[in-house]
Amino acid sequence: MATDQPREREIAAEDSIKVVCRFRPLNDSEEKAGSKFVVKFPAGGEENCISIGGKVYLFDKVFKPNATQEKVYNEAAKSIVSDVLAGYNGTIFAYGQTSSGKTHTMEGVIGDPNKQGIIPRIVNDIFNHIYAMEENLEFHIKVSYFEIYMDKIRDLLDVSKVNLSVHEDKNRVPFVKGATERFVSSPEEVFEVIEEGKSNRHIAVTNMNEHSSRSHSVFLINVKQENLENQKKLSGKLYLVDLAGSEKVSKTGAEGTVLDEAKNINKSLSALGNVISALADGNKTHIPYRDSKLTRILQESLGGNARTTIIICCSPASFNESETKSTLDFGKRAKTIKNVVCVNEELTAEEWKRRYEREKEKTARLKGKVEKLEAELSRWRQGETVKVEEQVSLVEGPDVTTPVAPIIETKIDDGPVPATPGGGLMAGSLSNEERQKLEEERERLYQQLDDKDEEINQHSQYVEKLKEQMEEQEELIACTRRDYEQLQQEMNRIQQENESAKEEVKEVLQALEELAVNYDQKSQEVETKNKEHEALSEELLAKQAALNTTASELQQLRDMSAHQRKRITEMLANLLKDLGEIGVAIGGDENLKVTPDSNGKLEEEFTVARVYISKMKSEVKNLVQRCQGLESFQTDCNKKVSDYEKDLGECRLLISQHEARMQTLTESMKEADARKRALEEDVDALREECAKLKAAEQVQAVSNKEKAEEQEAATKMRVALEEQMDQLRGAHQKQVASLRDEISDKQRLIAELKDMNQKFTLAHHQMQCDYERLKQEEADKSVKLQELVLMNERREQARKDLKGLEETVSKELQTLHNLRKLFVQDLQARIKKSLTVEDNEDDGGSLAQKQKISFLENNLDQLTKVHKQLVRDNADLRCELPKLEKRLKATLDRVKALETALRDAKEGAMRDRKRYQYEVDRIKEAVRQKNFARRGPSAQIAKPIRAGQHHMGTGNNPVIRTGNRENERKTASIHDEKRRITDVGIIYNT
Ligand code: ADP
Ligand code: MG
Repeated sequence: MATDQPREREIAAEDSIKVVCRFRPLNDSEEKAGSKFVVKFPAGGEENCISIGGKVYLFDKVFKPNATQEKVYNEAAKSIVSDVLAGYNGTIFAYGQTSSGKTHTMEGVIGDPNKQGIIPRIVNDIFNHIYAMEENLEFHIKVSYFEIYMDKIRDLLDVSKVNLSVHEDKNRVPFVKGATERFVSSPEEVFEVIEEGKSNRHIAVTNMNEHSSRSHSVFLINVKQENLENQKKLSGKLYLVDLAGSEKVSKTGAEGTVLDEAKNINKSLSALGNVISALADGNKTHIPYRDSKLTRILQESLGGNARTTIIICCSPASFNESETKSTLDFGKRAKTIKNVVCVNEELTAEEWKRRYEREKEKTARLKGKVEKLEAELSRWRQGETVKVEEQVSLVEGPDVTTPVAPIIETKIDDGPVPATPGGGLMAGSLSNEERQKLEEERERLYQQLDDKDEEINQHSQYVEKLKEQMEEQEELIACTRRDYEQLQQEMNRIQQENESAKEEVKEVLQALEELAVNYDQKSQEVETKNKEHEALSEELLAKQAALNTTASELQQLRDMSAHQRKRITEMLANLLKDLGEIGVAIGGDENLKVTPDSNGKLEEEFTVARVYISKMKSEVKNLVQRCQGLESFQTDCNKKVSDYEKDLGECRLLISQHEARMQTLTESMKEADARKRALEEDVDALREECAKLKAAEQVQAVSNKEKAEEQEAATKMRVALEEQMDQLRGAHQKQVASLRDEISDKQRLIAELKDMNQKFTLAHHQMQCDYERLKQEEADKSVKLQELVLMNERREQARKDLKGLEETVSKELQTLHNLRKLFVQDLQARIKKSLTVEDNEDDGGSLAQKQKISFLENNLDQLTKVHKQLVRDNADLRCELPKLEKRLKATLDRVKALETALRDAKEGAMRDRKRYQYEVDRIKEAVRQKNFARRGPSAQIAKPIRAGQHHMGTGNNPVIRTGNRENERKTASIHDEKRRITDVGIIYNT
């Protein structure tokens, strides 16, 4: 059919649109809702009838719910494949409400042999046909996939193309300009393209079900073939359209934007309805194709050059009855449309020539006929009656009305110009020239419209790109904002740190000042303490010296007292001896008296003597007793002395003041000695008198005569002795009393000394304690002093630093001051000058100048203040600067590192992508080759080589034909260029 038909069917033939109707089974929800099956299929062989609510509809074919996908395909769509391959255009579109089975019919489940719909079956069939065709045919198959949503054409194979425009080619056939075309060489490739388009559709949309029910999806297969023997070229376009749901808006309960959408969708569908109605109403000259993009794309399919099949999809449920009815009405209307189909053939030069010859012949024939007719007319006008036999026959051969004319006519008539109600009649009254003009005008307007469309498309693409860029920029901005926030936070932190550091410094300075004040106080205290300490140590030294002297004095006194004691004991021993001797001497008296007893007289004298003696004895006894008392007294005294000594020993301090007293004491002792000596002398004298008395007694014993005298003398003597004794006793008593007094005095003295000594020891102890305390304090203070010295040093250092700063500041101030001075001088000089000049002129000016000067001076002062402040601030900031710089550096480093990491990652991703692409292409090629090997030699499918693809130009590869290489190279280079541009775009974007 494909081989011999085109030659015979180069003329166009009228062909009505084929309408088939498909009912799906009741779905679950309909069954649950208890919907009834309201459609009736009249029994009979012909399955082209259907009745609903008593109304009968006739279609080319009616498919019952149980009709399989295969059946539908075979009976409704299969023939289109051979038509397309024979160079005809074809269209299949599915119409019906949402979920009536449009997508199920058109697409089904791709890959499932039972459930796959029309599109996959057509694709498979096209390739199978090609494989079965002659070898000398070469095919180029390309596919496009786009959707129409809200009257915008969105390319499903390139998401950046969101608003494509519809243009007309040189034959005034509308096409989607700029839609991506994919060259395919196997069904698998087509399916891949479909998958890609579907995934792109999914990506862009949130609610896919709703979106798919509101958008029309168009899959376009473009088949071009060339006979390599006679260079005959045929082309066929096959539109496979899955329309949006045809239901009314009210049913979906849409609102707001959804309602807008629904209206828009309904608009395009109502435009379709209008077009179909206009076409069905044969009288209408204007068909409103331009009302929507959908109708423009389907312009050729509806009343144009295409074999069109409409599949009406319906639900059999009672719930959807009204929708089903309106759908069936639509199909009914569409059925009346007549298309004019012809083969799309690119004629060769020879063909054109032949056609030309034929036309020429025809013209000559017509010319002859016109001449004949004119001749007949002139005869008629002249009043002749031409016989029936002579009349030119108006019925001519089939060549007279060429079918090209109606095509041209319809095409001319389909424009908007004659859209006025009486357009058809007006056209008749228009002259040819006017018609020409209007035609041109319309052409121009269409051109403008197309240009505008194109502009819109470009703009929308640009907008899309800009959107992408905006998103990227926004991301970047967000990123930078985050960074900025982080940096801000860091800054805040640093500032806080800075503040706290400043406060710390202030505190430290305050502490330092306090310490300095403390230090001054302490140093003063230390000085006073040192002074005190010195005074105390001096005092101590003096005290010690005094102590030493008193100790030595004490020693001396002790020695002296020991010496005196010795002497006293000696004296007392002598006294006792003397008294003993006296006693002996008194005891010896009796022996002395016994001796003269032998004589009578003497006895008396003796007795007297004895009396005397007894008296003396008693007296001596008394004396002895007194001596004993004295002795005991003396021992007491000794004891007391020893006590004193002890006291003296305890009392370490005996001061020189007591020396004098001691001296007086020693003097008194000496006096006592002297008295003792006197007493001794007295005792000696008494001994001598006793010796004398003995001698006298002896003399009495010798001479009695002298007894009386002697007695007298003895009595006298006794009396004298008694007197002497009395005297002695008195002196003795006096002496003892004085001694006693002296001893009591000394005791008192000793007690006083003791007290003093105790006081002194206590004072000494106290002083020692104080000394220790002071020492401790001194040590503490020296430690503190050291600390303070250290702090002082630091303060000195700080002071030096401050001095340096002050110096620099003062220098700057000095320079500023100098400048000011210079400025003032200059001003003064100028004023003087001006004064000398203007002195005579007026005084008011000078006053103003003075004011100005004062004003300027004030300003200068303020400026200097500000300058000082600034210098201070500058110093502070300079301190902060290096820290911040460091931080900044660190951040910059981090940013750099991140950037490099990012770049690396991107490069890696690019590489991976390229590798992946290469791999995919390689696999495709392998699959294709395998397929080819399986099928054996048949017609060729040429697929242009695309950039980045493996070149397969081997000898046994049948795909690429040498004769066609130039073309392929061109396409390839164009693709290459495109790809390069997109790559550049990608690189630019990244
Ligand atoms: P539409 O594209 O018109 O909105 P779908 O093709 O998505 O409707 O069909 C809706 C549901 O009905 C799908 O789950 C589909 O599988 C099912 N369906 C449609 N037609 C048939 C049929 N003839 N046989 C079985 N199931 C069908
Ligand atoms: Mg659908």
